[in-house]
Amino acid sequence: MSAVATEHLISPHGGTLVDRTGDRPDGVESLEQVALTSRELSDLDMLAAGALSPLEGFMGREDYERVVEEMRLESGLPWALPVCLAVDGAPKGDRVALTDEAGTPLAVLDVEGVYEYDRQREAEQCFRTTEEEHPGVARLYGQKPLYLSGRVTVFDRAEPPFPELANDPADTRRTFAERGWRRVVGFQTRNPIHRAHEYLTKVALETVDGLLIHPLVGDTKSDDVPVATRVECYRVLVDGYYPQDRVLVSAFPAAMRYAGPREAIWHAICRKNYGCSHFIVGRDHAGVGSYYGSYDAQLIFDEFEPHELDIEPMFFEHTFWCNTCGAMASAKTCPHPAEDHVFLSGTKVREMLGAGEIPPVEFSRPEVAEVLIDAYRS
Ligand SMILES: [Zn+2]
Repeated sequence: MSAVATEHLISPHGGTLVDRTGDRPDGVESLEQVALTSRELSDLDMLAAGALSPLEGFMGREDYERVVEEMRLESGLPWALPVCLAVDGAPKGDRVALTDEAGTPLAVLDVEGVYEYDRQREAEQCFRTTEEEHPGVARLYGQKPLYLSGRVTVFDRAEPPFPELANDPADTRRTFAERGWRRVVGFQTRNPIHRAHEYLTKVALETVDGLLIHPLVGDTKSDDVPVATRVECYRVLVDGYYPQDRVLVSAFPAAMRYAGPREAIWHAICRKNYGCSHFIVGRDHAGVGSYYGSYDAQLIFDEFEPHELDIEPMFFEHTFWCNTCGAMASAKTCPHPAEDHVFLSGTKVREMLGAGEIPPVEFSRPEVAEVLIDAYRS
């Protein structure tokens, strides 16, 4: 850790940035092994780095129950989604080795408890639906039947998919401090950034010191644009259209849960740990299909007192290019009818890119479109 002072940045959730990395203890080979799913591995890596502060491990029953029912940890601190490890049965010893899917030990977990959970209730409360067509619910229903809780110590961090974008909360905080940023807005994305999202990141940046473009790089649905393609899109966009000293592109290692409103809260809390004082919440944040209303992920912030989350949400409506305004706008700022607006459906955009056609510059930067066309071709 360098000597750069970071006290002027927002405090981590709960006050202290957790660090659950440590040395490999003796005797790991002889411990009972628990293999983690890719979602659980993403959570483990975030626990190690403090991205899930104040959590130090997979949740115990008291935290879990209160999170599911009230969006709070046992301590009362806001927390929106379970961070749990599903297992088939109770381990025999009081310590287990956590491994990746290939069986390589990455961490140990000191067992605190094993408990039953109700999948339907978790689905109803966290996803607002019990339908199996919902990808987050489907994953929940496919889980093993018990939750194993306990503090983790991670001695082998999985190789990050994009090492140059791998910054832990301590790293982003140091970078913000080095650049003299105090007010920093975080932008979560799992899509290529077109003009609409470029616009809202820049509107937000107008009012703060810096912008963290924080693409999620953990598991997404198979029909989302692959992460390697997205990362290339972010590179060409930021190189061409953002001031380099006001923006940081960094990977967010979480897996998508598609929990809509609750995930918006969870995403905001995680970004607070990365040092963001502000967080962009657009239309249907972390949503999927038509499970959530367009602005449910904004309304849910009203369920907390502002000081409780500390990080400030910045809400945005659907944005577009308006031919009459001659500018990017939204229903909030443009008085003109829909026919003046450049609107392309997701299906239309995919069709154009698939045919090697560059969408209008009012919709997408040509450099971004070219990356996507190349990806469709290969
Ligand atoms: Zn207009």
